[in-house]
Amino acid sequence: MEKRAVTCPKCSHQMEEMKFAGIDLDSCPFCMGCWLDCEEVSQMTRSRGNAKLKVELKSPVQSELHCPRCRPARSMQVGPHVDIPTLQLDQCPECGGVWLDRGELTTLLSHRGNP
Ligand SMILES: [Zn+2]
Ligand SMILES: [Zn+2]
Repeated sequence: MEKRAVTCPKCSHQMEEMKFAGIDLDSCPFCMGCWLDCEEVSQMTRSRGNAKLKVELKSPVQSELHCPRCRPARSMQVGPHVDIPTLQLDQCPECGGVWLDRGELTTLLSHRGNP
């Protein structure tokens, strides 16, 4: 599958592909946020072994960010992660892609889910 370049939903900077914890993702060199496509999200949850890492929002509301993948652009939804109340995630309801601000991916990956 051919990957299109992603534009940062926050600052419209051109994002760069990078690898983080074995996951291919797109990172913005400007605001240091990152974008995970739906399959990259499942790649991330799989790579966690038996720890159940969910990417799910609790009572999401419409975000002011737009999905960098969907055409025409779709408003994403924002809300706290189901297990980590301090972590605000933006997710596209259409393609399932997730936007994480600087440091949020680390927070998410260091979370140990309930068995
Ligand atoms: Zn950015
Ligand atoms: Zn989308």
